[in-house]
Amino acid sequence: MDHLLPLMKNVPLPMSRAEMQEWWGWDELDVLLVNGDAYVDHPSFGIALIGRALVDAGFRTGIVAQPQCDEDFLVCGRPRLFVGVSAGNIDSMLNHYTAARKPRRQDHYSPGGKAGLRPDRATMVYTNTVRRLLKGCPVVIGGVEASLRRLAHWDHWSNTMRRSLLSDSKADLLCYGMAEPQILEVAHRLHQGEAIKGLTDIRGTCYMLNAGQVPEDPWRRGTVALPSFTEVRDDKRKFAEGERLHFIEQDPARGKLLVQPTDARLVVQTPPAAPLEAEALDRIYGLPYTRREHPAYVAGVPALETVRTSIVTHRGCVANCNFCSIVYHQGKDIQSRSVESVVKEAETIASLPGFKGTISDVGGPSANMFQMKCGKMRKFGSCIHRDCLLPTPCPSLESGVEANLVALKRIREIPQVKHVFIQSGIRYDLALRDGDAYIDAVARHHVSGIMKVAPESTDDRVLALMNKPSFDVFRRFKRRFALATQKAGKKQFMTEYLIAGHPGTDITTMVETARTLRDEGMQPDQVQEFVPIPMTISTAMHVSGYDPFTMQPLHAATGDRERRMQKALVHSTKPENKRLVLEALQLAGRGDLAAQLLDEGGAGHGGHLRERMQRGGYTGPAFMAGGGDSVVDEDEQRLDEHDGHFPDPREAEVTLDCGTRVPKHLAERAQQGGFNASWRGKKKGATDKPLRPRR
Ligand code: SF4
Repeated sequence: MDHLLPLMKNVPLPMSRAEMQEWWGWDELDVLLVNGDAYVDHPSFGIALIGRALVDAGFRTGIVAQPQCDEDFLVCGRPRLFVGVSAGNIDSMLNHYTAARKPRRQDHYSPGGKAGLRPDRATMVYTNTVRRLLKGCPVVIGGVEASLRRLAHWDHWSNTMRRSLLSDSKADLLCYGMAEPQILEVAHRLHQGEAIKGLTDIRGTCYMLNAGQVPEDPWRRGTVALPSFTEVRDDKRKFAEGERLHFIEQDPARGKLLVQPTDARLVVQTPPAAPLEAEALDRIYGLPYTRREHPAYVAGVPALETVRTSIVTHRGCVANCNFCSIVYHQGKDIQSRSVESVVKEAETIASLPGFKGTISDVGGPSANMFQMKCGKMRKFGSCIHRDCLLPTPCPSLESGVEANLVALKRIREIPQVKHVFIQSGIRYDLALRDGDAYIDAVARHHVSGIMKVAPESTDDRVLALMNKPSFDVFRRFKRRFALATQKAGKKQFMTEYLIAGHPGTDITTMVETARTLRDEGMQPDQVQEFVPIPMTISTAMHVSGYDPFTMQPLHAATGDRERRMQKALVHSTKPENKRLVLEALQLAGRGDLAAQLLDEGGAGHGGHLRERMQRGGYTGPAFMAGGGDSVVDEDEQRLDEHDGHFPDPREAEVTLDCGTRVPKHLAERAQQGGFNASWRGKKKGATDKPLRPRR
């Protein structure tokens, strides 16, 4: 393994032949990873995890990030074993376009936030180029884009059903999920001389067969035939049924082989990879990441800013929220690191030059699921006939709260650490179950002035379709948090995240939501327009118009204008939303609520429209134009471009001492005593000063 130790200290993986030779002493690579994001050597970035794991296992690995031309693909030479292709940390279409399919102006995973450095459908484009330039070299695809498009799926951006990405890209193998074990097994077996076509018995992968061939089943779990691509494309009910079947089999302990006929071939999905034990995760997260961008970049990568001093404690989520794809990618079973490993990472971060005393996040998909376990799930698979958290958390679910509190306390006690925040979501029904100690500790030590919580909706019927707890549970948590905040002697407040346009939500529901928000004095920080991303149950509802579990029909807001109105209702008092709110109220026949939901005063923007509506005239420009869905004014265009995934880049922000960037209106509230986080009121650059660029 000595040949795998770098010649220089603290270097990232190579991105050129010169770096291979000067930094690592390699003449060729075993594995080349082609990636749609800029290369950031930090464990929050998939390519860094995979690359470091390969080097740790003895494979010389280099990275080509955001290639712009053929020469870029060849800059590290032809690899000995295979090329791994990924679009990056998020789907390239979601990265490029808003929910309303408008191009985004920024790419947070590119240097300087520059848009346009990767193609649409990056996995497919990169794979085709690798096939053309490196003929005969095996290609393995992975990452979120490949993982969530591994079977026939709905593509919101082209408004069509698409085949498995494996079929469209013509790659040899697809690894789904976080995929370290799969990629390592592929590398070892190719190294031992096996052919890529023979790798049909690795869990957590998809491969293709010709029609009539029978997939091998070394796990002896049986095979489930999914509706074919043609069936799901042509029949919405079949699509909903297929998604339900896939969801049920998405379990490492009992999931079967899945087979989906696609044109004249079969796409085969093997059972999900076994969950990683703490020892394996500790090793992966303990690898020597430099925790910064590759020095080739002069401008920083904005996505790093939010995670630079964050720590991932676990993978997986037992919650099964229907709009979320985490179960399909990381699984339901919680895979936790040891407390020791988490604390050690905090010590490493604290010792880095430039560390300012703040650990920005200690968490995972839900922060309070760290160290949570269910013995039955690990052994027999998750229950089919009950949910782990609903209607109330299952008694078999062992809380990890004690270990969680120990880890947080030990991190707080590191001398250089001044603040330890939890920015990951907190699952509030679990927090309530875990008793006072957790909520008290969070309120006292781990909130950066604003507690962000995601009730997602105020309507219990919609919450049930989302597979989220009732709104009353959120109310209880809110009261409990207020009490804990009072006990801690702090002034801090809670801000809520909501989703507009989720299946089952119509204009009437959202009008009621707007009223509830007003009655409860809630001011959601962000409202995210529902995006039917590939491979979620909510997407199946949106596309098919059925709940896949009950096959009951439901309302799906498929028109852009309805979705825009739903979104505007959450922030009904914003002047720029007035026009859409009035239109929505008119449609819902609730013009009587206009005075309640809009800012009083009547003068200024929108006042004339309200008057017109009260006289019985129509108000919406789409109505004026004939009821179309087109975007008709600049305010609405602006709303489209910002769909809540990241702070609106055009909304002025300030940076708190802890490094958290908050919108200006919240900072103003801070000035008025709304919360007690100190703030500097100064904008911060994208990253620390970059390393010297290499030529
Ligand atoms: S026993 Fe409870 S926690 Fe475990 S899988 Fe079943 S429902 Fe989930």
